Amino acid sequence: MDKISVVIPVYNEEKVLPRLFERLVPVMEGLKRPYEVVLVDDGSTDQSLAILKSHAGEKIHVVELTRNYGQHAAVFAGFESSSGEIVITMDADLQNPPEEIPRLVQTMEDGNYEVVGTVRKGRKDSVFRIFPSKVINAVTRRITKVHLNDWGCMLRAYRRAVVEGMLKSQEHSTFIPALATTFAKDITEIEVAHEERFAGESKYSFAKLVSLQFDLVTSFSDFPLKFMLYSGLILAFLGIGFGGVLAVARLSFGAAWAAEGVFTLFAVLFFFVGAQFLAFGVMGEYVGRIYREVKKRPPYTIRRIH
Ligand code: UDP
Ligand code: MG
Repeated sequence: MDKISVVIPVYNEEKVLPRLFERLVPVMEGLKRPYEVVLVDDGSTDQSLAILKSHAGEKIHVVELTRNYGQHAAVFAGFESSSGEIVITMDADLQNPPEEIPRLVQTMEDGNYEVVGTVRKGRKDSVFRIFPSKVINAVTRRITKVHLNDWGCMLRAYRRAVVEGMLKSQEHSTFIPALATTFAKDITEIEVAHEERFAGESKYSFAKLVSLQFDLVTSFSDFPLKFMLYSGLILAFLGIGFGGVLAVARLSFGAAWAAEGVFTLFAVLFFFVGAQFLAFGVMGEYVGRIYREVKKRPPYTIRRIH
């Protein structure tokens, strides 16, 4: 049977970790097949790393990053150190119950899916956490054109090929559930339970959510660039149209009507403003392309694997 890897990013979760191991290990043993758990310490400043290291062993691997890189970079580091045919990502805070893992694996194997996402049933978070998620979900659906209901829940399963694809795209700021859809065709979603955070608090402030949203839009779409291009085109055409209207009016009503050429000046101005935006837009396209190339820099560095 295929090996399962569970990848968990950890950032200052000392209060949760003991309970995480207590619940996760029996579930994994219960699957009766090869497995590994890769925990990535994302530069924790509390006792998390020490706790993780005390559990490190044949099936529990601990990746120590050099500093805090953020959840998605940490998960990537975990992907790199994982070897299972099915890779499961999950949060350390026990909001995603580990007991759902067998169902996730079963859905993937029964339906031969490449990605299995999850929808949080009865989500236990504050309004301030849920509303930004709604926005992120709507935007992600539009950008990726994949109709999943819940993109934020990190309890997800990926096939090895999808993980390899993601690893090859060494992007600095990215959003894993969206990136995965660019390498997978057979995607589904199941409902899972959602619990209160076991201890500690959410690492996502409002500012961090805004920044995540921005990453999402700029790394998966060039809509802002295209927007500039199109508004430039529209402005230029409006300028030309306006010029035409003025010419006709001038011929029928005489020079006095056109305020001795002042209106014509406006038409010319509109045209050039439009053309300028257009030029910016085209330039933006190239800048966007260069940006995409530059993104190849390594998104994290591993200090040690325990
Ligand atoms: N996390 C991380 N690095 C960070 C922030 C978060 O590795 O900079 C981890 C964190 O330890 C947890 C997961 O990412 O395992 C999700 O974080 P959190 O529960 O705070 O987010 P939320 O549930 O509010 O989305
Ligand atoms: Mg959480």
